[in-house]
Amino acid sequence: MLLKDKVAVVTGGAGINGLGFATARMLAEQGARVVILDLAVADPQAAAARLGAEHLGLVADVTDKASCEAAVAAIQARYGRLDVLVNNAGITQPVKFLDLTGADYDRILDVNLRGTLYASQAVLPVMVAQKSGSIVCISSVSAQRGGGILGGPHYSAAKAGVLGLARAMAREFGGHNIRVNCLTPGLIATDINKGKIPEDKRQTILDGIPLARIGEPNDVAGCVVFLASDLSKYCTGVTLDVNGGMLIH
Ligand code: NAD
Repeated sequence: MLLKDKVAVVTGGAGINGLGFATARMLAEQGARVVILDLAVADPQAAAARLGAEHLGLVADVTDKASCEAAVAAIQARYGRLDVLVNNAGITQPVKFLDLTGADYDRILDVNLRGTLYASQAVLPVMVAQKSGSIVCISSVSAQRGGGILGGPHYSAAKAGVLGLARAMAREFGGHNIRVNCLTPGLIATDINKGKIPEDKRQTILDGIPLARIGEPNDVAGCVVFLASDLSKYCTGVTLDVNGGMLIH
């Protein structure tokens, strides 16, 4: 068990087909007590109940700082500690650069980037007091390529922002024994892209992936477990690609 007695929080973890829930399940399999944070509409309590009674689901909106702080207070009250945060909540939108509106920009930046800021700000005081912690931020290959497959330019910008924010946190909190790392997934089959890849585009995408398949949520979850656990205890500020070789650099 890599995470025995640890408490791990996953934002945006309620979607049963998503990266967050796959991650929550794998963290639980490794002994962690898992807290799933998500919007009310996604029903985080039901998702946590699937993992077992020792896990917790809480409604929280990562774009709302007070909501993140209230969630952390509830986690402290229940478990008295907090060891791992996975900044996974995210949304995307396929749109061309010149068609981007200010409202689109705000919406995508708010969840992906501001959400990473607020959730991290909420947990860091607890981790500092504990003198330990691991934060894993889910960026995207879109940040590195200037576009993944489906996200617009604002999504690329938000996910590139996540890389910068995470590296800055890694630098500032390393002295507190808190590690901050990023994953940059390529194309992974979840609800975010379900039914959105035209059949004629599918083969072209596969031709660009050396491992010759679209990723599955557990491909990402395994890398989160690695970064969350002491297996990676000398890694901070790292960006770990999980893209089947779609981008090798
Ligand atoms: P998903 O749509 O299944 O999951 C996203 C989750 O975030 C949902 O449960 C949703 O309710 C939640 N969420 C949205 N807004 C929120 C808010 N304001 N507060 C709290 N929760 C909120 O998508 P997914 O594919 O599992 O994506 C998970 C993460 O991985 C996202 O950050 C996404 O950008 C990133 N990502 C996905 C892929 C991919 O191909 N699937 C690739 C690269 C990066």
